[in-house]
Amino acid sequence: MGLGTMYTGKTKNLGIIGYPVAHSLSPAMQSAAIVDAGLDYRYIAMPVHPDALASAVEGLKALNFRGFNVTIPHKVNLIPLLDDIDEDAKMIGAVNTVLIEAGKLIGYNTDSSGFIRSLRKNAFEPEGKSAVILGAGGAARAVLWGLIASGMKSLTIGVRDCKKAQPLISIFGKFIRIKALYWDDPEFSEALQTADLLVNSTPLGMSPNTDAEPPVDWTLIRQEAFVSDLIYTPAETAFLRAAKKNKNRCMNGEGMLVEQGAEALERWTGRKVRPEIMARALRDSLRCRA
Ligand code: NAP
Repeated sequence: MGLGTMYTGKTKNLGIIGYPVAHSLSPAMQSAAIVDAGLDYRYIAMPVHPDALASAVEGLKALNFRGFNVTIPHKVNLIPLLDDIDEDAKMIGAVNTVLIEAGKLIGYNTDSSGFIRSLRKNAFEPEGKSAVILGAGGAARAVLWGLIASGMKSLTIGVRDCKKAQPLISIFGKFIRIKALYWDDPEFSEALQTADLLVNSTPLGMSPNTDAEPPVDWTLIRQEAFVSDLIYTPAETAFLRAAKKNKNRCMNGEGMLVEQGAEALERWTGRKVRPEIMARALRDSLRCRA
């Protein structure tokens, strides 16, 4: 079945809720994978105002949706409306995927596993390694939990405000050696020197402010370290350019975005899908926007 062909009474519905949601790349990625796998599903973008979240979710249930993705500003506020929540999503404190099973809403977070899948596809195995994460926002939380669950040995978070990172340290400190340090702290420089993995989870360098980058002293970074930027617009940030110049292997945020989507679709449909098809649709959409 191709895009634009007939949907039947048996077609199952999927989608994404957010506010705004028109910018989301998920409809393009998901629709491409659905068509590629020959699935009788469709995926649409649904703007849901925060005041209407509860009634919108009831509506999706009543309309027999199979599931939906959740984006800003609903990733945390949706949690009290769920019937059940997966352990990973609970630890991260945010939900990006909901499965509707026998009228019950079950919340998941596939950002975390999506990041780990993208790391492994780049032949980086977190077990027993040390990482430095720049930034302590929502994306950092998913990345940190993914790394902890994958057996990372130690984590250091570089921030401009240590107080804001304290809740993360309290929660994740039960599972791993983890510290939040100011970027200009000498102890932070030591962590950079021994890091096997360096991740930018700040928006520094994201379009349109492409000249910005986190203040990393690249002379401290080992050439063997793997470098990841969660940003995917532009495809190569100033941070990743610096990593390449330092001869580090690296990846941008495209893999995480694609893999979180692939995992959500697999959960809804019970079928394996091809992330490379989603990646191609993502790049096409970004090219059209540019
Ligand atoms: P967020 O919750 O707003 O967190 C941003 C973090 O960066 C905070 O710790 C913030 O510190 C810090 N930060 C922001 N501006 C800074 C600056 N000028 N100097 C120093 N630190 C700064 O955002 P998020 O949702 O975590 O998203 C972060 C990035 O990840 C974005 O670029 C987003 O596009 C990307 N992302 C990618 C994916 C993917 O699938 N590839 C998924 C999610 C997010 P303060 O708290 O002090 O402001």
